[in-house]
Amino acid sequence: MVTKKIAILGGGESGVGAALLAQAKGFEVFLSDKGALKESYRATLRAANISFEEGKHTEEHILDAVEVIKSPGIPETVPLVLKLKEQQTPVISEIEFAARYTKAKLIGITGSNGKTTTTLLIYHLLKTAGLNVGLAGNVGDSFAAQVIDDSFDYYVLELSSFQLDDMYDTHLDVMVLLNITPDHLDRYNYNFQNYTDSKFRIIQNAQPEDTFIYFQESLPIQNELAKRSPVVNQLPISLETSVAPGGYLTNGELVATYGSSIFRLAMADTTLRGPHNAINTLAAVLAAQSVGIAIESIAEGLKTFQNAAHRLEPAGTVNGVQFINDSKATNVDSVFYALSSMEVPTIWIAGGQDKGNDYSQLDEVVRQKVKALICLGIDNHKLVSYFGNKVATIYETQSVTDAVAKGLEWGQPGDAVLLSPACASFDLFKNYEDRGNQFKAAVKDLMMNT
Ligand code: ADP
Repeated sequence: MVTKKIAILGGGESGVGAALLAQAKGFEVFLSDKGALKESYRATLRAANISFEEGKHTEEHILDAVEVIKSPGIPETVPLVLKLKEQQTPVISEIEFAARYTKAKLIGITGSNGKTTTTLLIYHLLKTAGLNVGLAGNVGDSFAAQVIDDSFDYYVLELSSFQLDDMYDTHLDVMVLLNITPDHLDRYNYNFQNYTDSKFRIIQNAQPEDTFIYFQESLPIQNELAKRSPVVNQLPISLETSVAPGGYLTNGELVATYGSSIFRLAMADTTLRGPHNAINTLAAVLAAQSVGIAIESIAEGLKTFQNAAHRLEPAGTVNGVQFINDSKATNVDSVFYALSSMEVPTIWIAGGQDKGNDYSQLDEVVRQKVKALICLGIDNHKLVSYFGNKVATIYETQSVTDAVAKGLEWGQPGDAVLLSPACASFDLFKNYEDRGNQFKAAVKDLMMNT
């Protein structure tokens, strides 16, 4: 028998995991990355005897594969991918490939914002209940690598639209769609419908017995659902009306109904804050109910959950002024929710690399919550020209230390200084983590020296 060849484009966590799985399943494997691999990935590939190249894509080693697994970071429009599609070689994601080799139940989460928080929370709730569960997709270790000795009963998968674009047959048992707001439009021909279609691929293989959880006040979700009638058990989440089955927030209490399971808990008894986190929490509770977890165990999990860093993360208090790191807020919608969560007068640090932002969504919340704005980044002029006559005090800087010092200077005891940029971080920082870490370090310095 001739060994079939699988080519893998991109040698990050997902590509290297896919290479290991493909080899374990008996394929000939070739991995190609246009950039450089991390040393640890090189070592893994060498130890497994998998051929790979760096700094280029050699077409003759890729075009003869029976299937190509593409990293979500590589656009559909690069010439090599176009060539593969033209010769009808299937191009799939690591998730699609790995899902073929697991019997576990799959829980998939997508949305423009809130994916990581909700994914980690569902994972935590399942673990708290003692289920045997893996975490993968955009967070954690490669799904494909975990599937090699398929030992989990459940996987919780964070799915970006780029991953969904290369998924075709993967069947998810539980699907969560948190919201759809403009993001990444450069990869979707600047066409919002294309991006919406991509997000809706999460339910493309849904069956009547599966569960689809979605936030019903997200207008693009509402509009799209009005056009389709998906054959699936639908569980809406609402911040405005009581829905059952489904989840809602009423007078600070979370209520979630799934069959005969009715969950109630004050949001204040969870570790998360803000209306956006009420949506994320309700989604996680419904997902947990749908796999049969008892409500007492869910409540326990919500009381012990620790979110990932850089998402409304307390960074320290100096002279009664609290500093909050929301560096992961890289678009306008996430800032809207961050500001909505603030319960004290707020000095808002925003800016970075503008992504064609339309700030009008923030008018009302900025009027209510923001006492001063500190612009930090190369595209400050855009923030200044938009908020110039809307915020009493504005300061511009290119230094995170300076921004933090100015926040302290302007802050009164009881105020908050919130870093929630609405912009990409690549102007002054390596990435959003670096921006958040530098912010936290600057706050720590102030705490030591004030
Ligand atoms: P993602 O993985 O989709 O980027 P995260 O959970 O990492 O989402 O959160 C990213 C940012 O979006 C955070 O700054 C957070 O404050 C904000 N956010 C979280 N959940 C939501 C939501 N449901 N709607 C809008 N914004 C949200």
